[in-house]
Amino acid sequence: MLRMINFLLCVVVLLFTSLPVLGSPTMRGTIIIDISDGTITGDITLENFERDENSAYLLNHGLNIKELRDSSGVILKYNRLQESPRYESSAYVIPTNDKKSRNYVPSSVSFHYTGKFPVYSNSEKSAKDWKGNIAFNDSGMRADGLQSALFPTFFTFKNDRVHDLVTYDLTVICAACSHIYIAGDKVRSAPKATFTAALPSSPMIVAGKYKISSQQGADIIESNTKEENHFSVGTNWSDVIESTKSYVSCEMVKNRPFVFVELDSLDGYSGWMWASTNTIVSVGNGSTLKPFLRGNNLENHVEDFSFLVHEYTHLCTETLGQGGPLSLLLNESVAEYVSLISIEKVFGQAVLKNKICELQNSISDAFPASRVKNLKNAMMSLDVFSQNYIFGPLLLLQLDRSYGRDFTLKFINSLIEKSKKGIYININLLNSMLSTINKESKKNKEISTSEGNIEEIEVTNIDCNLK
Ligand SMILES: [Zn+2]
Repeated sequence: MLRMINFLLCVVVLLFTSLPVLGSPTMRGTIIIDISDGTITGDITLENFERDENSAYLLNHGLNIKELRDSSGVILKYNRLQESPRYESSAYVIPTNDKKSRNYVPSSVSFHYTGKFPVYSNSEKSAKDWKGNIAFNDSGMRADGLQSALFPTFFTFKNDRVHDLVTYDLTVICAACSHIYIAGDKVRSAPKATFTAALPSSPMIVAGKYKISSQQGADIIESNTKEENHFSVGTNWSDVIESTKSYVSCEMVKNRPFVFVELDSLDGYSGWMWASTNTIVSVGNGSTLKPFLRGNNLENHVEDFSFLVHEYTHLCTETLGQGGPLSLLLNESVAEYVSLISIEKVFGQAVLKNKICELQNSISDAFPASRVKNLKNAMMSLDVFSQNYIFGPLLLLQLDRSYGRDFTLKFINSLIEKSKKGIYININLLNSMLSTINKESKKNKEISTSEGNIEEIEVTNIDCNLK
């Protein structure tokens, strides 16, 4: 009898272990890009996503669906939702005849789609350019991996999560391009290239006529319009990596090539940076990275160092920005906090103090009437930029001052672990994490437990008049 039970147990265990493990969605297929007339044609299959009826597929609102098919090639009906949960995309669902279920969620769905975007020559400027734009200019095409949804992207409403981190097997055809790159793999030669990522990656893509170089293990993609010579990655770059890794766990970047991308903005005046799976992209910043990467004297490049640590931290904490009402706040605050304490380590306390004074002043200048002391009133009275990039980092610095750096880093790293597991992060979870770390830390030394609620922790201004 015991043997029989053991046998049955083994069968049950085998049955469960042989079921496919749901992790990140997988994506395969082909896209064709024409950089001279701004067209994109995609035939992309999305699989291995959670079969949650309260979900949708996001696709950039400039892309038009020709048809949707299931794994047997059957054409599926679809509806576009009135409102999309994300600005740059439209959201699609597959309706079901069965009144009990909300939507039909097949195990695999193929999108056949096409779109045409304006191409700006060097002499023309667009009114606006931004990260989520699918941007075409003389040099080629650029699309980030999260906002622009150039590839169909799975979305779950229950946790407000964009499942942009995918494993993929993609072919890209671009006849007029010299090179193509998808974040998570490496730069490849055009006109036809195949890209694979076995580890979850945010599929930011560039395809065009670029200058390509390679320095100290990093590949560099530059817009052809740049007259200066290629980058030279100096020793300062390793300072950025070392400093970031000394504060946050950084497994996301393991064993994959690192890529810098520097491109022009379509509007000719805005500039910004972002991070997508082992890639730091700088758009319209001219030579922001170059002097720094040439290994110049670090003292002259505090801002560059601070930008790069901020972006590198994003690469280490990619799941933190995937969804939920607190995701932007936590994602940006953590990156900025790591950047601030790195400045302190490399340039000294006085430089950090100056930075904190700048942050404090910018809140009181922009919001003179409000007395912003804690997260609760910051969320009500500050704009989103100030919440994410100013108040959030100041709150983490307050934790650092009150409870110590080890405490704060423990809090941040357990936050990253939770986000990797896809756990929905809300205020209650943050509070319970604080109290757990507090209890653990108390084993070694006395720490006040009076501030148990992250929304109530008072951020006190440092005295900027003291020399
Ligand atoms: Zn950021």
